[in-house]
Amino acid sequence: MCAHATPDGEKHPENPERLRAIRRKLDAEGVASRCVDMKAKEAKEKYIASVHTPNHIKLIRDISSKEYDYRRNKTARKFNSIYFNEGSSESAFLAAGSVIEVAEKVAAGELSSAIALVRPPGHHAEHNEPMGFCLFNNVAIAANYLLNERPDLGINKILIVDWDVHHGNGTQKMFYSDSRVLFFSVHRFDYGSFYPCEGDASHCFIGEGAGEGYNINVPWEHGKCSDADYVAAWDHVLLPIAEAFDPDIILLSAGFDAAMGDPLGGCCITPDGYALLLTKLLGFAKGRIVMALEGGYNLKSIANSVCACTKVLLGDNFTYNSPRMQPFESTWRVIQMVMVCNVLFLCTAVRILWF
Ligand SMILES: [Zn+2]
Repeated sequence: MCAHATPDGEKHPENPERLRAIRRKLDAEGVASRCVDMKAKEAKEKYIASVHTPNHIKLIRDISSKEYDYRRNKTARKFNSIYFNEGSSESAFLAAGSVIEVAEKVAAGELSSAIALVRPPGHHAEHNEPMGFCLFNNVAIAANYLLNERPDLGINKILIVDWDVHHGNGTQKMFYSDSRVLFFSVHRFDYGSFYPCEGDASHCFIGEGAGEGYNINVPWEHGKCSDADYVAAWDHVLLPIAEAFDPDIILLSAGFDAAMGDPLGGCCITPDGYALLLTKLLGFAKGRIVMALEGGYNLKSIANSVCACTKVLLGDNFTYNSPRMQPFESTWRVIQMVMVCNVLFLCTAVRILWF
């Protein structure tokens, strides 16, 4: 997946060094050797077709072929924040296939949890177009694979937690009317001015039809959100709702661009902060958690954060030592708005519990 890079070597935040830096850190800390190290595997097109159109799949399959040599860059410019090169096709299929592979193994109980270190990332990719550095929506494809292709594994309810600093617009749309998938995204919104700059990242978008109440957006009003703000969103929104939903597995769209030092995110979660957020999820779905890398562009921050999270998944004892900070006042306002909008879901949850 390091073969996907800018065509002429221009600098870009989403570059192969991201994976190499993470791998170096996991090796140096002796963490990689404690994991089951799996080879990347390409996704079959029929599984990708559960969330993407035939045109989209054909484009990504063919974009690295010779026939695109003279129009590859022109094609990329038709999309929002996308580049392609000769390695993009294979990388995209490997990223999607690898998330499917580990999700299947965790669902089957062959692995207790997993972290898929993949790129290109996925959560901005929509039904019919790549977007925001994302070619295929890896997590959405894996979720549909479990629900539709492997009913024997007994995965009927999936919680997708998206802590990337950007809204998971693609994933939201793919499960917007689907009550089998509860999508929770916490992201910078800045009143609609933060990428992807769409109104549907607001707290008012709670799903529709059967999926009403199964889409939760926690939209920060500004940057600089830290461990304390995220912990507040966890304790007051995500954890109570996850308890009511009672997922069979958790897929984590694990971007690390809300990390301290990230050049794009402007937030400041520490590695210990990420470890704490992850620890708080271990009590659900019998600890069956599959993390999939999304964004995160400060090499040191992503390497340290992924390492801290992997240690949590390995069961290492963890104590949160970072200085205690208070959430912003705006954080309580956002949380209150989110909870008001999701009253319907809470009522449904109570009804389910009652029966
Ligand atoms: Zn992001």
